[in-house]
Amino acid sequence: SLDLDTSTDGVLTADTHLVQSFADLDLLKQDGARTVIVGAEGAYVTDSEGNKLIDGIGGLWCVNAGHRRREIIDAITEQLETLDFYSTFYNFTHPAAAALATKLAELAPGPLNKVHFANSGSVANDSAIRILHHYYNRLGQPKKKQILSRHGAYHGSTHLAIAMTTSAYSEGWDKVQGLVHHLRCPHHWREGGEMTEAEFLVALLEDARARIEEVGAENIACFIAEPIMGAGGIVMPPAGYHAAMGAICGDYEIKYISDEVVTAFGRLGHFFASKDVFDVQPDIITTAKGLTSGYQPLPATILSDEIHEVISDRGGVFLHGMTYSGHPAAAAAGLANIALMERDRIPQNVRTTGKRFEGNLRALADMEMVGEVRGSHFMMGIEFVRDKADKTPFAPEDMIGLKVARAAQKRGLIARPLGNILILSPTLVMDGAMIDRTAAILRESIAEVH
Ligand code: PLP
Repeated sequence: SLDLDTSTDGVLTADTHLVQSFADLDLLKQDGARTVIVGAEGAYVTDSEGNKLIDGIGGLWCVNAGHRRREIIDAITEQLETLDFYSTFYNFTHPAAAALATKLAELAPGPLNKVHFANSGSVANDSAIRILHHYYNRLGQPKKKQILSRHGAYHGSTHLAIAMTTSAYSEGWDKVQGLVHHLRCPHHWREGGEMTEAEFLVALLEDARARIEEVGAENIACFIAEPIMGAGGIVMPPAGYHAAMGAICGDYEIKYISDEVVTAFGRLGHFFASKDVFDVQPDIITTAKGLTSGYQPLPATILSDEIHEVISDRGGVFLHGMTYSGHPAAAAAGLANIALMERDRIPQNVRTTGKRFEGNLRALADMEMVGEVRGSHFMMGIEFVRDKADKTPFAPEDMIGLKVARAAQKRGLIARPLGNILILSPTLVMDGAMIDRTAAILRESIAEVH
């Protein structure tokens, strides 16, 4: 048998060969800057010092079914023992990818019945855009290529996905120019001024219509939006926003892409949130993360029948795909993960446990340093402010989110700092005691830093 080295030798040295993502690479040169995760079970992970930590970020908003679920591990193993790899290129296919596509067509809302697999959420979004551009070429509308996104969005870090993302994630980096138009961020608390939420909604919709008129609907392929903005700071739009944006897209014949990389597979209490939670029928849903609960990389771009009809009905080769699109082991993981979620009624349970989590976190809003607690179910953010009365933010050098995250980790909870915001996106299998413990740790940690 293979003797896997689980020691941490070499992992923590300043001159490690590993280039980490979204990290201050200079800070990482300091001793003790890294946390080495060596094991996991259920809602917990273990670090190299032997600490058992509540995984408050679910790996990276993805380990929805919890860590080390036997059913998923066995399905991956069995698949690898039967068919380790074959692609879904040309006329080849394999049972796992076909079965998972069928299952996703069943779960996705309305006419979203055709599934293309990719290898990261970023690429699932790139795929959606490439496919739509090709769709409009086929319809004889080659000018219809521009993209509407929003300030505050996060759609990934490939060159195109980062162009659709908030500029906070590309400071000092280049962006594809001339293709993406950012609409207003739908964050009432920060952006709404004196307006009520309903007035703010009207203003957002007017802004969207004005931008569409300015760019010209004949030049716009699509609007892309996360149901709740995630990595941009957990932004829940005003009530009715997505349904209204869906209607505007319909009026102007602009396709609506719902980026459900985070919000799907139970995180908000449903397999998909677009229709069930936000009452919008997208033309395309992109998803990833919770699809396999992170056990294997497997994103999907789910297309409407109508889009698929146009790209498939006149012959010609579909010139798009990645070697590992629909990898057998990943597809097997997705099937086992969904079966487990259905058997254990994970999305349904989240409607209760996630509400308890949300309620516990919202209670932290009584603390002096807490400006806003926002989000829904197991997708929450806490924004810290220097002055609660006028929402004055902390300065970046205060590193307030990082300080609270460190204080929480000392107490047994991993949370993700993002400037002045702390993000919580745990596994969906926390019981009531863990949920209460998480809120208690956060209260103590915030009090310590204050
Ligand atoms: N879209 C959203 C909403 C995300 O949150 C992310 C990643 O966090 C992505 C896309 C990109 O996914 P990936 O990191 O798998 O490329």
